[in-house]
Amino acid sequence: VIEVSEAEKTIAEKTATHPCFNCGANDYARMHLPIAPKCNISCNYCVRKYDCPNESRPGVTTQVLNPKEAFIKYKEVKKRVPNLSVIGIAGPGDALANFDEVKETLQLIREQDKNVTFCLSTNGLMLPQYATDLVELGVSHVTITMNAVDPVIGGKIYKYVNFMGVNYFGEAAAAILLSNQLTGIKMLALKGIVCKVNIVMIKGINDTHIPEVVKKVKELGGSITNIMQLIPVKDSVFEDLPLVSNQEIMAMRKRCGETMKQMYHCKQCRADAIGTLGNDVSFEFNACHKTEGI
Ligand code: SF4
Ligand code: SF4
Repeated sequence: VIEVSEAEKTIAEKTATHPCFNCGANDYARMHLPIAPKCNISCNYCVRKYDCPNESRPGVTTQVLNPKEAFIKYKEVKKRVPNLSVIGIAGPGDALANFDEVKETLQLIREQDKNVTFCLSTNGLMLPQYATDLVELGVSHVTITMNAVDPVIGGKIYKYVNFMGVNYFGEAAAAILLSNQLTGIKMLALKGIVCKVNIVMIKGINDTHIPEVVKKVKELGGSITNIMQLIPVKDSVFEDLPLVSNQEIMAMRKRCGETMKQMYHCKQCRADAIGTLGNDVSFEFNACHKTEGI
């Protein structure tokens, strides 16, 4: 008889109602709280803008909120979006480069709501430092973006990494990031946290390397990988790179699906997205937190 602990049961129940980790949960809504503006690394595909309501991609939000504002917005959304099952922190920078804000926000919400699922995405640089705190805060699902498991390839993707106040560049930067990502994913997986690894497929840089990344994720105990298309953003280092076609992405997912479970339905959402994955309603809420008190 396989015994399933209470904690494992809870995480399985939470996964069942998480629209990103379970494509059958598409009737449930998630809400991203844009409380994390700072980042501790620089990816060559990233440009973050804070006032871009017509653009829909990671790193974009209409406003950055502080924890108290985020809590007010959460209460407003909870009232009007009854199928809300997940609160996520997805930037616009890196969640763990803004850990104090993440902690305060999640604690405020948890006092009010014992059941809502906490989800967070990170580049993984600070995961070894914060993995235990995340478990204590009740985070059950974590997404780590890991684009390479070879510092030579990673060195082409990251401009710099700021670790413990020191800037590292090139392969040295990629090596520190990678080492922390590997340790962090393993720590979370051992604690029963569901780990999704995002991999941005970048033509001519990491496109042939992705199966290696996926194998490593499986070895570390990750649950699912999400191979995504690079969105070439104006003014980013990778702005002129050719796009990977849909067919190429699908073929890579299929190939890696032989190693482990793949995500096929990611929408590459904004940092302030609200609603089901098929119906973003964030525009309905984007100013409302200003008009209400706690
Ligand atoms: Fe941008 Fe995220 Fe990379 Fe930071 S980790 S530079 S926010 S894409
Ligand atoms: Fe889910 Fe992908 Fe959107 Fe994140 S970016 S909320 S994983 S669909």
